Amino acid sequence: MAEHEHEHVRVAVVGSGFGGLGAAVRLRREGITDFVVLERAGSVGGTWRDNSYPGCACDVPSHLYSFSFAPNPDWPRSFSGQEHIRAYLEHVTDVFGLRPHLRFDSEVKRMTWDTERLRWDIETSSGNLSADAVVSATGPLSEPRLPDIPGLDTFPGKVFHSARWDHDYDLRGKRVAMVGTGASAIQIVPAVQPLVSRLTLFQRTPAWVLPRMDRPISGAERALHRTLPFTTKLRRGLLWGVRELQVQAFTKHPGELGFVEQLAKRNMGRAIKDPALRARLTPDYRIGCKRILLSSTYYPALAQPNVDVVGGLSEVRGSTVVGADGTEAEVDAIVFGTGFHVTDMPIAERVVGAEGKTLAESWAGGMQSLRGAAAAGFPNWMTVIGPNTGLGNSSMILMIESQLNYLADYMRQLDVLGGRVALDARPSAVRAWNHRVQERMKRTVWNTGGCTSWYLDESGRNTTIWPGTTSEFRRETRRVDLSEYAVVRSLPAERDTTRENTGVTA
Ligand SMILES: Cc1cc2nc3c(=O)[nH]c(=O)nc-3n(C[C@H](O)[C@H](O)[C@H](O)COP(=O)(O)OP(=O)(O)OC[C@H]3O[C@@H](n4cnc5c(N)ncnc54)[C@H](O)[C@@H]3O)c2cc1C
Repeated sequence: MAEHEHEHVRVAVVGSGFGGLGAAVRLRREGITDFVVLERAGSVGGTWRDNSYPGCACDVPSHLYSFSFAPNPDWPRSFSGQEHIRAYLEHVTDVFGLRPHLRFDSEVKRMTWDTERLRWDIETSSGNLSADAVVSATGPLSEPRLPDIPGLDTFPGKVFHSARWDHDYDLRGKRVAMVGTGASAIQIVPAVQPLVSRLTLFQRTPAWVLPRMDRPISGAERALHRTLPFTTKLRRGLLWGVRELQVQAFTKHPGELGFVEQLAKRNMGRAIKDPALRARLTPDYRIGCKRILLSSTYYPALAQPNVDVVGGLSEVRGSTVVGADGTEAEVDAIVFGTGFHVTDMPIAERVVGAEGKTLAESWAGGMQSLRGAAAAGFPNWMTVIGPNTGLGNSSMILMIESQLNYLADYMRQLDVLGGRVALDARPSAVRAWNHRVQERMKRTVWNTGGCTSWYLDESGRNTTIWPGTTSEFRRETRRVDLSEYAVVRSLPAERDTTRENTGVTA
Protein backbone atom coordinates (compact mmCIF):
# COMPACT_ATOMS: atom_id res chain seq x y z
CA MET A 1 0.00 0.00 0.00
CA ALA A 2 2.75 2.44 0.95
CA GLU A 3 4.95 1.46 -1.97
CA HIS A 4 3.91 4.26 -4.30
CA GLU A 5 2.93 6.84 -1.68
CA HIS A 6 3.91 10.46 -2.46
CA GLU A 7 5.11 9.44 -5.88
CA HIS A 8 4.60 12.13 -8.51
CA VAL A 9 4.52 11.55 -12.26
CA ARG A 10 4.02 13.81 -15.24
CA VAL A 11 1.09 11.75 -16.53
CA ALA A 12 -1.10 9.02 -15.07
CA VAL A 13 -2.90 6.96 -17.68
CA VAL A 14 -5.86 4.97 -16.38
CA GLY A 15 -6.69 1.76 -18.22
CA SER A 16 -4.68 -0.54 -20.48
CA GLY A 17 -7.00 -1.29 -23.37
CA PHE A 18 -6.44 0.17 -26.84
CA GLY A 19 -6.93 3.67 -25.39
CA GLY A 20 -4.49 3.43 -22.48
CA LEU A 21 -1.82 1.52 -24.38
CA GLY A 22 -2.16 3.89 -27.34
CA ALA A 23 -1.72 6.84 -24.98
CA ALA A 24 1.38 5.22 -23.51
CA VAL A 25 2.94 4.73 -26.94
CA ARG A 26 2.08 8.30 -27.87
CA LEU A 27 3.53 9.78 -24.70
CA ARG A 28 6.79 7.95 -25.27
CA ARG A 29 6.88 9.20 -28.85
CA GLU A 30 6.47 12.73 -27.50
CA GLY A 31 9.53 12.12 -25.35
CA ILE A 32 7.52 11.78 -22.14
CA THR A 33 8.67 8.78 -20.14
CA ASP A 34 7.62 9.95 -16.68
CA PHE A 35 4.23 8.27 -16.68
CA VAL A 36 2.41 5.26 -15.31
CA VAL A 37 -0.46 3.19 -16.64
CA LEU A 38 -2.83 2.25 -13.82
CA GLU A 39 -4.86 -0.88 -14.53
CA ARG A 40 -7.29 -2.52 -12.15
CA ALA A 41 -6.85 -5.98 -13.70
CA GLY A 42 -3.76 -8.15 -13.82
CA SER A 43 -2.99 -7.84 -17.53
CA VAL A 44 -3.45 -5.52 -20.50
CA GLY A 45 -6.21 -5.80 -23.08
CA GLY A 46 -9.31 -4.06 -21.67
CA THR A 47 -12.35 -5.14 -23.69
CA TRP A 48 -10.40 -7.98 -25.26
CA ARG A 49 -9.22 -9.33 -21.92
CA ASP A 50 -12.59 -9.09 -20.17
CA ASN A 51 -14.83 -10.42 -22.95
CA SER A 52 -13.85 -14.04 -23.39
CA TYR A 53 -17.32 -15.44 -24.00
CA PRO A 54 -17.69 -18.20 -26.61
CA GLY A 55 -17.75 -16.67 -30.08
CA CYS A 56 -16.36 -13.26 -29.01
CA ALA A 57 -14.94 -11.48 -32.04
CA CYS A 58 -14.62 -8.07 -33.60
CA ASP A 59 -17.21 -6.59 -35.96
CA VAL A 60 -14.63 -4.52 -37.80
CA PRO A 61 -12.02 -6.15 -40.05
CA SER A 62 -8.72 -6.73 -38.27
CA HIS A 63 -6.62 -4.62 -40.61
CA LEU A 64 -8.73 -1.61 -39.63
CA TYR A 65 -9.29 -2.61 -36.01
CA SER A 66 -5.62 -2.18 -35.05
CA PHE A 67 -3.21 0.69 -34.52
CA SER A 68 -2.00 2.42 -37.69
CA PHE A 69 1.46 2.61 -36.09
CA ALA A 70 1.51 -1.13 -35.35
CA PRO A 71 0.21 -2.92 -38.44
CA ASN A 72 -0.05 -6.68 -38.18
CA PRO A 73 0.54 -8.53 -41.46
CA ASP A 74 -0.37 -11.80 -39.76
CA TRP A 75 -4.01 -11.37 -38.81
CA PRO A 76 -5.38 -14.88 -39.26
CA ARG A 77 -8.96 -13.95 -40.20
CA SER A 78 -10.68 -10.99 -41.79
CA PHE A 79 -12.59 -10.46 -38.53
CA SER A 80 -10.39 -11.41 -35.60
CA GLY A 81 -11.46 -13.37 -32.58
CA GLN A 82 -10.97 -12.03 -29.07
CA GLU A 83 -7.87 -14.14 -28.38
CA HIS A 84 -6.03 -12.73 -31.41
CA ILE A 85 -6.81 -9.12 -30.53
CA ARG A 86 -5.75 -9.72 -26.95
CA ALA A 87 -2.48 -11.29 -28.17
CA TYR A 88 -1.98 -8.28 -30.47
CA LEU A 89 -2.27 -5.89 -27.52
CA GLU A 90 0.21 -7.95 -25.47
CA HIS A 91 2.57 -7.78 -28.46
CA VAL A 92 2.15 -3.99 -28.77
CA THR A 93 2.97 -3.70 -25.06
CA ASP A 94 6.24 -5.56 -25.54
CA VAL A 95 7.30 -4.02 -28.84
CA PHE A 96 6.81 -0.45 -27.61
CA GLY A 97 8.51 -1.10 -24.26
CA LEU A 98 5.44 -0.30 -22.16
CA ARG A 99 5.89 -2.94 -19.44
CA PRO A 100 7.94 -0.71 -17.07
CA HIS A 101 5.06 1.79 -17.02
CA LEU A 102 2.33 -0.69 -16.16
CA ARG A 103 0.84 -0.92 -12.67
CA PHE A 104 -1.53 -3.86 -12.51
CA ASP A 105 -4.04 -4.47 -9.73
CA SER A 106 -4.21 -0.69 -9.31
CA GLU A 107 -7.82 0.33 -9.44
CA VAL A 108 -8.26 4.09 -9.38
CA LYS A 109 -10.63 4.83 -6.51
CA ARG A 110 -10.52 8.60 -6.61
CA MET A 111 -8.76 11.42 -8.48
CA THR A 112 -8.89 14.85 -6.89
CA TRP A 113 -7.66 18.08 -8.46
CA ASP A 114 -5.41 20.02 -6.10
CA THR A 115 -6.13 23.67 -7.01
CA GLU A 116 -3.04 24.89 -5.16
CA ARG A 117 -0.42 22.49 -6.39
CA LEU A 118 -2.09 22.12 -9.79
CA ARG A 119 -1.94 18.37 -9.83
CA TRP A 120 -4.16 15.34 -9.56
CA ASP A 121 -4.01 13.37 -6.32
CA ILE A 122 -4.81 9.80 -7.19
CA GLU A 123 -5.90 7.09 -4.79
CA THR A 124 -5.54 3.56 -6.09
CA SER A 125 -6.03 0.14 -4.61
CA SER A 126 -2.22 -0.26 -4.61
CA GLY A 127 -1.27 3.12 -3.16
CA ASN A 128 -1.44 6.85 -3.79
CA LEU A 129 0.36 9.07 -6.24
CA SER A 130 -0.02 12.44 -7.93
CA ALA A 131 0.24 13.51 -11.54
CA ASP A 132 0.38 16.77 -13.52
CA ALA A 133 -2.10 15.33 -15.99
CA VAL A 134 -4.46 12.39 -16.21
CA VAL A 135 -5.46 10.44 -19.31
CA SER A 136 -8.58 8.50 -18.43
CA ALA A 137 -8.93 5.52 -20.76
CA THR A 138 -11.28 3.43 -18.66
CA GLY A 139 -13.33 2.28 -21.63
CA PRO A 140 -16.76 3.06 -23.01
CA LEU A 141 -17.92 -0.53 -22.54
CA SER A 142 -16.05 -1.81 -19.52
CA GLU A 143 -18.59 -1.83 -16.66
CA PRO A 144 -21.21 -4.57 -17.19
CA ARG A 145 -24.84 -3.53 -16.76
CA LEU A 146 -27.24 -5.99 -15.17
CA PRO A 147 -30.93 -5.12 -15.42
CA ASP A 148 -32.95 -4.93 -12.24
CA ILE A 149 -35.10 -8.05 -12.67
CA PRO A 150 -37.61 -8.76 -9.89
CA GLY A 151 -36.86 -12.07 -8.21
CA LEU A 152 -33.39 -12.53 -9.68
CA ASP A 153 -32.03 -12.98 -6.15
CA THR A 154 -34.29 -16.03 -5.74
CA PHE A 155 -32.71 -17.84 -8.70
CA PRO A 156 -30.87 -20.93 -7.42
CA GLY A 157 -28.81 -21.55 -10.56
CA LYS A 158 -25.82 -19.90 -12.21
CA VAL A 159 -25.95 -16.23 -13.27
CA PHE A 160 -23.28 -14.29 -15.13
CA HIS A 161 -22.75 -11.41 -17.55
CA SER A 162 -21.22 -11.92 -21.00
CA ALA A 163 -18.21 -9.76 -20.03
CA ARG A 164 -17.53 -11.87 -16.93
CA TRP A 165 -17.92 -15.32 -18.45
CA ASP A 166 -17.58 -18.14 -15.97
CA HIS A 167 -15.41 -20.65 -17.81
CA ASP A 168 -15.62 -23.08 -14.90
CA TYR A 169 -19.34 -23.50 -15.48
CA ASP A 170 -20.05 -26.21 -18.05
CA LEU A 171 -23.06 -25.27 -20.17
CA ARG A 172 -23.25 -28.68 -21.86
CA GLY A 173 -26.68 -30.23 -21.49
CA LYS A 174 -27.99 -27.29 -19.46
CA ARG A 175 -31.19 -25.27 -19.89
CA VAL A 176 -29.94 -21.76 -20.48
CA ALA A 177 -31.64 -18.37 -20.57
CA MET A 178 -29.83 -15.82 -22.73
CA VAL A 179 -30.98 -12.30 -21.97
CA GLY A 180 -30.44 -9.70 -24.68
CA THR A 181 -30.02 -9.60 -28.43
CA GLY A 182 -27.16 -7.13 -28.81
CA ALA A 183 -23.67 -7.52 -30.27
CA SER A 184 -22.44 -9.96 -27.60
CA ALA A 185 -25.61 -12.06 -27.42
CA ILE A 186 -25.73 -12.71 -31.15
CA GLN A 187 -22.19 -14.07 -30.98
CA ILE A 188 -22.92 -16.19 -27.91
CA VAL A 189 -26.14 -17.78 -29.21
CA PRO A 190 -24.63 -19.72 -32.16
CA ALA A 191 -21.61 -20.70 -30.05
CA VAL A 192 -23.62 -22.25 -27.19
CA GLN A 193 -26.75 -23.46 -28.98
CA PRO A 194 -25.17 -26.78 -30.08
CA LEU A 195 -24.00 -27.46 -26.50
CA VAL A 196 -27.05 -26.76 -24.40
CA SER A 197 -30.20 -28.85 -24.04
CA ARG A 198 -32.50 -25.82 -24.35
CA LEU A 199 -31.78 -22.16 -25.06
CA THR A 200 -34.41 -19.53 -24.28
CA LEU A 201 -33.55 -16.20 -25.82
CA PHE A 202 -35.15 -13.22 -24.10
CA GLN A 203 -35.52 -10.50 -26.70
CA ARG A 204 -36.79 -7.02 -25.80
CA THR A 205 -36.08 -5.55 -29.24
CA PRO A 206 -34.93 -7.47 -32.30
CA ALA A 207 -31.70 -6.41 -34.01
CA TRP A 208 -30.94 -5.86 -37.68
CA VAL A 209 -28.36 -8.47 -38.62
CA LEU A 210 -26.30 -8.48 -41.81
CA PRO A 211 -24.18 -11.41 -43.03
CA ARG A 212 -20.65 -11.51 -41.70
CA MET A 213 -18.15 -11.81 -44.53
CA ASP A 214 -15.54 -13.54 -42.40
CA ARG A 215 -12.89 -15.82 -43.86
CA PRO A 216 -9.38 -16.98 -43.04
CA ILE A 217 -6.66 -14.74 -44.45
CA SER A 218 -4.59 -17.02 -46.66
CA GLY A 219 -0.90 -17.72 -46.17
CA ALA A 220 -0.20 -16.04 -49.52
CA GLU A 221 -1.96 -12.84 -48.47
CA ARG A 222 -0.06 -12.78 -45.20
CA ALA A 223 3.25 -13.37 -46.96
CA LEU A 224 2.41 -10.50 -49.32
CA HIS A 225 1.66 -8.19 -46.39
CA ARG A 226 4.91 -9.20 -44.70
CA THR A 227 7.11 -8.68 -47.75
CA LEU A 228 5.36 -5.58 -49.07
CA PRO A 229 4.16 -3.66 -46.02
CA PHE A 230 2.42 -1.05 -48.16
CA THR A 231 -0.15 -3.71 -49.08
CA THR A 232 -1.26 -3.86 -45.42
CA LYS A 233 -1.71 -0.09 -45.53
CA LEU A 234 -3.59 -0.33 -48.80
CA ARG A 235 -5.93 -2.94 -47.38
CA ARG A 236 -6.54 -0.79 -44.31
CA GLY A 237 -7.11 2.26 -46.50
CA LEU A 238 -9.77 0.48 -48.56
CA LEU A 239 -11.57 -0.80 -45.47
CA TRP A 240 -11.50 2.71 -44.01
CA GLY A 241 -12.62 4.45 -47.22
CA VAL A 242 -15.69 2.27 -47.69
CA ARG A 243 -16.83 3.03 -44.15
CA GLU A 244 -16.18 6.74 -44.57
CA LEU A 245 -18.54 6.74 -47.54
CA GLN A 246 -21.16 4.65 -45.75
CA VAL A 247 -21.36 6.98 -42.79
CA GLN A 248 -23.09 9.70 -44.81
CA ALA A 249 -26.19 7.51 -44.97
CA PHE A 250 -26.24 7.24 -41.18
CA THR A 251 -25.57 10.90 -40.50
CA LYS A 252 -27.32 12.71 -43.33
CA HIS A 253 -29.55 10.44 -45.40
CA PRO A 254 -31.13 7.74 -43.20
CA GLY A 255 -33.82 7.36 -45.87
CA GLU A 256 -31.22 5.69 -48.10
CA LEU A 257 -30.80 2.82 -45.66
CA GLY A 258 -33.94 1.04 -46.84
CA PHE A 259 -32.06 -1.18 -49.26
CA VAL A 260 -29.72 -2.30 -46.44
CA GLU A 261 -32.84 -3.42 -44.56
CA GLN A 262 -33.68 -5.59 -47.56
CA LEU A 263 -30.24 -7.24 -47.33
CA ALA A 264 -30.80 -7.90 -43.63
CA LYS A 265 -34.27 -9.33 -44.28
CA ARG A 266 -32.82 -11.63 -46.91
CA ASN A 267 -30.15 -12.73 -44.40
CA MET A 268 -32.94 -13.64 -42.01
CA GLY A 269 -35.20 -15.18 -44.62
CA ARG A 270 -32.49 -17.63 -45.70
CA ALA A 271 -32.49 -19.30 -42.27
CA ILE A 272 -35.84 -18.51 -40.64
CA LYS A 273 -38.68 -20.22 -42.48
CA ASP A 274 -41.33 -19.96 -39.76
CA PRO A 275 -43.33 -16.76 -40.54
CA ALA A 276 -44.23 -16.21 -36.86
CA LEU A 277 -40.58 -16.35 -35.80
CA ARG A 278 -39.61 -14.16 -38.74
CA ALA A 279 -42.15 -11.56 -37.62
CA ARG A 280 -40.80 -11.69 -34.06
CA LEU A 281 -37.27 -11.17 -35.32
CA THR A 282 -38.05 -8.28 -37.68
CA PRO A 283 -37.21 -4.86 -36.22
CA ASP A 284 -39.70 -1.98 -36.53
CA TYR A 285 -37.08 0.76 -36.58
CA ARG A 286 -34.72 2.01 -39.27
CA ILE A 287 -31.58 -0.05 -39.73
CA GLY A 288 -28.56 1.64 -38.13
CA CYS A 289 -30.59 3.27 -35.34
CA LYS A 290 -29.19 0.58 -33.06
CA ARG A 291 -25.79 -0.89 -33.86
CA ILE A 292 -26.02 -3.06 -36.99
CA LEU A 293 -24.94 -6.55 -36.09
CA LEU A 294 -22.99 -8.94 -38.27
CA SER A 295 -23.57 -12.67 -38.18
CA SER A 296 -24.10 -15.50 -40.61
CA THR A 297 -24.73 -18.02 -37.85
CA TYR A 298 -27.21 -16.25 -35.54
CA TYR A 299 -30.40 -16.91 -37.52
CA PRO A 300 -29.47 -20.52 -38.38
CA ALA A 301 -28.97 -21.11 -34.61
CA LEU A 302 -32.37 -19.56 -33.80
CA ALA A 303 -34.02 -21.91 -36.28
CA GLN A 304 -32.83 -24.98 -34.34
CA PRO A 305 -35.44 -26.99 -32.42
CA ASN A 306 -33.76 -26.46 -29.01
CA VAL A 307 -34.15 -22.64 -29.20
CA ASP A 308 -37.10 -20.44 -28.18
CA VAL A 309 -37.26 -16.72 -28.82
CA VAL A 310 -39.50 -14.98 -26.28
CA GLY A 311 -40.14 -11.43 -25.00
CA GLY A 312 -37.77 -9.52 -22.71
CA LEU A 313 -37.06 -11.03 -19.30
CA SER A 314 -39.54 -9.55 -16.85
CA GLU A 315 -39.37 -11.71 -13.75
CA VAL A 316 -37.60 -14.62 -12.12
CA ARG A 317 -39.47 -16.98 -9.77
CA GLY A 318 -37.02 -19.47 -8.32
CA SER A 319 -35.70 -21.40 -11.29
CA THR A 320 -38.51 -20.15 -13.54
CA VAL A 321 -37.76 -17.25 -15.87
CA VAL A 322 -40.70 -15.26 -17.21
CA GLY A 323 -40.80 -13.28 -20.45
CA ALA A 324 -42.73 -10.07 -21.03
CA ASP A 325 -45.07 -12.10 -23.28
CA GLY A 326 -45.89 -14.43 -20.35
CA THR A 327 -43.69 -17.30 -21.53
CA GLU A 328 -42.23 -19.32 -18.68
CA ALA A 329 -39.20 -21.59 -18.74
CA GLU A 330 -37.30 -23.59 -16.14
CA VAL A 331 -33.58 -22.93 -16.51
CA ASP A 332 -30.27 -23.90 -14.92
CA ALA A 333 -28.36 -20.76 -15.89
CA ILE A 334 -29.04 -17.16 -16.87
CA VAL A 335 -26.52 -15.37 -19.08
CA PHE A 336 -26.92 -11.61 -19.35
CA GLY A 337 -25.82 -10.05 -22.61
CA THR A 338 -27.25 -6.75 -21.49
CA GLY A 339 -24.43 -4.38 -22.25
CA PHE A 340 -22.57 -1.82 -20.21
CA HIS A 341 -22.82 1.43 -18.29
CA VAL A 342 -22.22 3.82 -21.16
CA THR A 343 -23.93 7.18 -20.71
CA ASP A 344 -23.24 7.08 -16.97
CA MET A 345 -19.47 6.63 -17.35
CA PRO A 346 -18.50 4.94 -14.03
CA ILE A 347 -15.15 6.70 -13.62
CA ALA A 348 -17.02 10.05 -13.48
CA GLU A 349 -18.11 9.25 -9.90
CA ARG A 350 -14.46 9.06 -8.89
CA VAL A 351 -13.10 12.28 -10.41
CA VAL A 352 -13.30 15.39 -8.22
CA GLY A 353 -12.62 18.66 -10.04
CA ALA A 354 -11.54 22.20 -9.20
CA GLU A 355 -14.81 23.12 -7.53
CA GLY A 356 -14.95 20.00 -5.37
CA LYS A 357 -17.67 18.46 -7.54
CA THR A 358 -17.38 15.04 -9.11
CA LEU A 359 -17.50 14.74 -12.87
CA ALA A 360 -20.71 12.74 -12.43
CA GLU A 361 -22.28 15.69 -10.58
CA SER A 362 -21.04 18.07 -13.22
CA TRP A 363 -22.58 15.78 -15.87
CA ALA A 364 -25.89 15.35 -14.01
CA GLY A 365 -27.72 16.78 -17.04
CA GLY A 366 -25.83 14.50 -19.44
CA MET A 367 -22.19 13.98 -20.46
CA GLN A 368 -20.55 16.98 -22.13
CA SER A 369 -16.96 17.45 -23.12
CA LEU A 370 -14.77 19.59 -25.32
CA ARG A 371 -13.85 17.65 -28.46
CA GLY A 372 -14.58 14.34 -26.73
CA ALA A 373 -11.65 14.89 -24.38
CA ALA A 374 -11.76 17.63 -21.76
CA ALA A 375 -14.38 18.72 -19.24
CA ALA A 376 -14.85 22.22 -17.79
CA GLY A 377 -13.60 22.43 -14.20
CA PHE A 378 -11.36 19.37 -14.61
CA PRO A 379 -7.97 20.84 -15.61
CA ASN A 380 -5.35 18.62 -17.21
CA TRP A 381 -7.79 15.71 -17.25
CA MET A 382 -8.52 14.10 -20.56
CA THR A 383 -10.58 11.15 -21.51
CA VAL A 384 -10.03 8.78 -24.40
CA ILE A 385 -13.35 7.77 -25.97
CA GLY A 386 -15.17 10.47 -24.11
CA PRO A 387 -18.63 11.83 -24.93
CA ASN A 388 -19.69 11.69 -28.61
CA THR A 389 -16.65 9.85 -29.88
CA GLY A 390 -18.31 6.50 -30.55
CA LEU A 391 -18.93 5.12 -34.03
CA GLY A 392 -21.82 3.25 -35.51
CA ASN A 393 -20.02 1.65 -38.43
CA SER A 394 -16.24 1.85 -38.25
CA SER A 395 -13.23 1.15 -36.07
CA MET A 396 -12.96 2.82 -32.68
CA ILE A 397 -9.19 2.69 -33.06
CA LEU A 398 -9.45 5.51 -35.62
CA MET A 399 -11.15 7.70 -33.03
CA ILE A 400 -8.70 6.69 -30.31
CA GLU A 401 -5.76 7.69 -32.52
CA SER A 402 -7.36 11.09 -33.20
CA GLN A 403 -7.71 11.60 -29.48
CA LEU A 404 -4.05 10.65 -29.05
CA ASN A 405 -3.10 13.42 -31.50
CA TYR A 406 -5.05 15.81 -29.32
CA LEU A 407 -3.35 14.46 -26.20
CA ALA A 408 0.09 14.90 -27.78
CA ASP A 409 -0.65 18.53 -28.68
CA TYR A 410 -2.11 19.14 -25.22
CA MET A 411 1.16 17.99 -23.64
CA ARG A 412 3.15 20.13 -26.08
CA GLN A 413 1.05 23.18 -25.20
CA LEU A 414 1.67 22.62 -21.50
CA ASP A 415 5.41 22.48 -22.20
CA VAL A 416 5.33 25.66 -24.29
CA LEU A 417 3.41 27.50 -21.59
CA GLY A 418 6.05 26.33 -19.11
CA GLY A 419 6.12 26.16 -15.35
CA ARG A 420 3.32 24.84 -13.20
CA VAL A 421 0.42 25.23 -15.54
CA ALA A 422 -2.88 23.60 -16.36
CA LEU A 423 -5.47 23.94 -19.08
CA ASP A 424 -9.11 24.08 -18.10
CA ALA A 425 -11.76 23.83 -20.83
CA ARG A 426 -13.85 27.00 -20.93
CA PRO A 427 -17.54 26.32 -20.26
CA SER A 428 -18.39 28.48 -23.31
CA ALA A 429 -16.18 26.29 -25.52
CA VAL A 430 -17.76 23.11 -24.13
CA ARG A 431 -21.23 24.54 -24.79
CA ALA A 432 -20.31 25.59 -28.32
CA TRP A 433 -18.83 22.17 -29.16
CA ASN A 434 -21.85 20.31 -27.81
CA HIS A 435 -24.25 22.63 -29.57
CA ARG A 436 -22.53 21.85 -32.87
CA VAL A 437 -22.52 18.12 -32.17
CA GLN A 438 -26.18 18.04 -31.14
CA GLU A 439 -27.26 20.15 -34.13
CA ARG A 440 -25.61 17.64 -36.47
CA MET A 441 -27.13 14.79 -34.49
CA LYS A 442 -30.68 15.87 -35.30
CA ARG A 443 -30.64 14.39 -38.79
CA THR A 444 -28.85 11.16 -37.96
CA VAL A 445 -30.39 7.72 -37.95
CA TRP A 446 -29.45 7.36 -34.27
CA ASN A 447 -31.86 10.15 -33.38
CA THR A 448 -34.49 9.76 -36.09
CA GLY A 449 -34.59 6.00 -36.62
CA GLY A 450 -37.38 5.28 -34.16
CA CYS A 451 -35.50 3.18 -31.63
CA THR A 452 -34.23 3.43 -28.07
CA SER A 453 -30.59 2.48 -27.88
CA TRP A 454 -27.64 2.58 -25.51
CA TYR A 455 -26.37 5.54 -27.53
CA LEU A 456 -29.01 7.72 -25.84
CA ASP A 457 -28.94 8.87 -22.24
CA GLU A 458 -31.90 8.95 -19.84
CA SER A 459 -33.17 12.19 -21.34
CA GLY A 460 -32.95 10.81 -24.88
CA ARG A 461 -29.85 12.83 -25.80
CA ASN A 462 -27.22 11.09 -27.87
CA THR A 463 -24.03 11.61 -25.87
CA THR A 464 -22.07 8.68 -27.25
CA ILE A 465 -21.89 8.80 -31.04
CA TRP A 466 -19.83 11.07 -33.28
CA PRO A 467 -22.21 12.40 -35.95
CA GLY A 468 -19.67 12.58 -38.77
CA THR A 469 -16.82 10.84 -40.54
CA THR A 470 -13.66 9.74 -38.78
CA SER A 471 -11.65 12.17 -40.94
CA GLU A 472 -13.81 15.08 -39.75
CA PHE A 473 -13.08 14.07 -36.17
CA ARG A 474 -9.38 13.79 -36.99
CA ARG A 475 -9.40 17.37 -38.29
CA GLU A 476 -11.27 18.61 -35.21
CA THR A 477 -8.71 17.06 -32.86
CA ARG A 478 -5.47 17.74 -34.71
CA ARG A 479 -4.54 20.69 -32.49
CA VAL A 480 -5.52 22.11 -29.14
CA ASP A 481 -7.04 25.54 -29.66
CA LEU A 482 -5.82 27.50 -26.65
CA SER A 483 -8.68 29.99 -26.96
CA GLU A 484 -10.95 27.14 -25.85
CA TYR A 485 -9.08 26.84 -22.56
CA ALA A 486 -8.38 28.94 -19.52
CA VAL A 487 -4.70 28.76 -18.65
CA VAL A 488 -4.34 28.14 -14.93
CA ARG A 489 -0.96 29.04 -13.45
CA SER A 490 0.52 28.68 -10.03
CA LEU A 491 2.33 31.65 -8.55
CA PRO A 492 6.18 31.59 -8.37
CA ALA A 493 7.57 28.57 -6.58
CA GLU A 494 9.61 30.49 -3.97
CA ARG A 495 6.42 31.96 -2.47
CA ASP A 496 4.36 30.07 0.07
CA THR A 497 2.32 27.94 -2.25
CA THR A 498 -0.26 26.94 0.32
CA ARG A 499 -1.35 30.60 0.73
CA GLU A 500 -0.65 32.15 -2.63
CA ASN A 501 -0.70 29.35 -5.10
CA THR A 502 -4.41 29.66 -5.63
CA GLY A 503 -4.46 29.23 -9.38
CA VAL A 504 -4.76 32.39 -11.40
CA THR A 505 -6.91 32.12 -14.45
CA ALA A 506 -5.48 33.93 -17.44
C1 LIG B 1 -17.71 -7.43 -26.76
C2 LIG B 1 -17.25 -6.14 -27.39
C3 LIG B 1 -17.04 -6.08 -28.75
C4 LIG B 1 -16.61 -4.90 -29.34
N1 LIG B 1 -16.43 -4.89 -30.69
C5 LIG B 1 -16.01 -3.75 -31.27
C6 LIG B 1 -15.83 -3.71 -32.68
O1 LIG B 1 -16.10 -4.67 -33.37
N2 LIG B 1 -15.40 -2.56 -33.24
C7 LIG B 1 -15.12 -1.45 -32.48
O2 LIG B 1 -14.71 -0.42 -33.03
N3 LIG B 1 -15.28 -1.47 -31.13
C8 LIG B 1 -15.73 -2.58 -30.53
N4 LIG B 1 -15.94 -2.59 -29.19
C9 LIG B 1 -15.69 -1.38 -28.41
C10 LIG B 1 -14.34 -1.46 -27.69
O3 LIG B 1 -14.62 -1.30 -26.34
C11 LIG B 1 -13.40 -0.39 -28.20
O4 LIG B 1 -13.18 -0.62 -29.57
C12 LIG B 1 -12.02 -0.38 -27.52
O5 LIG B 1 -11.54 -1.67 -27.28
C13 LIG B 1 -12.06 0.42 -26.24
O6 LIG B 1 -10.76 0.54 -25.74
P1 LIG B 1 -10.51 1.35 -24.40
O7 LIG B 1 -9.07 1.23 -24.10
O8 LIG B 1 -11.07 2.70 -24.52
O9 LIG B 1 -11.39 0.63 -23.30
P2 LIG B 1 -11.27 -0.85 -22.68
O10 LIG B 1 -10.74 -1.80 -23.67
O11 LIG B 1 -12.58 -1.13 -22.08
O12 LIG B 1 -10.18 -0.66 -21.55
C14 LIG B 1 -10.43 0.05 -20.38
C15 LIG B 1 -9.49 -0.44 -19.30
O13 LIG B 1 -9.61 0.40 -18.17
C16 LIG B 1 -9.58 -0.39 -17.00
N5 LIG B 1 -10.25 0.35 -15.94
C17 LIG B 1 -11.55 0.73 -15.88
N6 LIG B 1 -11.79 1.42 -14.75
C18 LIG B 1 -10.63 1.48 -14.08
C19 LIG B 1 -10.24 2.06 -12.84
N7 LIG B 1 -11.11 2.71 -12.06
N8 LIG B 1 -8.94 1.93 -12.44
C20 LIG B 1 -8.03 1.28 -13.23
N9 LIG B 1 -8.35 0.70 -14.40
C21 LIG B 1 -9.64 0.80 -14.83
C22 LIG B 1 -10.30 -1.66 -17.40
O14 LIG B 1 -9.97 -2.75 -16.56
C23 LIG B 1 -9.80 -1.85 -18.83
O15 LIG B 1 -8.63 -2.61 -18.87
C24 LIG B 1 -16.39 -3.75 -28.56
C25 LIG B 1 -16.64 -3.81 -27.19
C26 LIG B 1 -17.07 -4.98 -26.62
C27 LIG B 1 -17.34 -5.00 -25.13
